[in-house]
Amino acid sequence: MKIICIGRNYADHAKELGNSIPKEPVIFLKPDTAILPKKNPFFIPDFSDDLHHELELVVRINRVGKSIEERFAHRYYNQVTVGIDFTARDIQRDCKEKGLPWEKAKAFDGSAPIGEWLELESLDIQNLNIELKKNGETVQLGNTKDMLFTVDKLIEEISKYFTLKIGDLLFTGTPSGVGAISRNDELEAFLEDRSLLKLRIK
Ligand code: MG
Repeated sequence: MKIICIGRNYADHAKELGNSIPKEPVIFLKPDTAILPKKNPFFIPDFSDDLHHELELVVRINRVGKSIEERFAHRYYNQVTVGIDFTARDIQRDCKEKGLPWEKAKAFDGSAPIGEWLELESLDIQNLNIELKKNGETVQLGNTKDMLFTVDKLIEEISKYFTLKIGDLLFTGTPSGVGAISRNDELEAFLEDRSLLKLRIK
C-alpha cells in the first residue's frame, strides 16, 4: 500500500505559503508506516519545532490501474474520508531552500492519520465541505470544488507514473488555514458535517 499526496492543489493555500500556482500537480509519496493506527494519539516528533496540520480529502483506490484516462478515473474509487498531512514546516522549509526532497518533513511515522470511510454513493466528490477544528474552533474550512486539479485529473496524472493498487490512498491537497499544533491540542476533522476523525496531540 502506498500513500500518494498532492501539494498546492488549492490556490488560497499555495498563496499563504508564498508558492506559485502549479501548472501540473505536485506529487509526493508517504510510506505505509505514515498511517497512524486508529485511536492512537499523534506524538509531535522531537526533530520539529513547527509541526503543521494540513486537512485533506482522502480517496481510497479500489481497482488496479495504470495510465488511467480522466474520463474513466471515477471507476477507481468509491470511498472518501478526511486525513491530515502532518508537516514539519521547519524541516520542509530547509529542504526547499536546499532543493532537497521533502520526505523527512512529510513522510515520517504517523504523519498521515485518516478518518472513518464514507461511501461516495450520491455525493459529488468535487463539491464536498471539509473542516478541521482545533480545540473546538474552526481552523480550516474548504470545499473540494476549489481544487486546482480534480480528483479524476489527479488520477490521470498520477497513474502515468505509478500503478495504482487496491487500498492505495490519495491525499488531495489542503485548503488554506494550515497552522502549528501543540501538545494537548485536540483536532477533529469533518466531511459534510460528519465527524470522521478525532485526534489528541501528545
Ligand atoms: Mg498536504
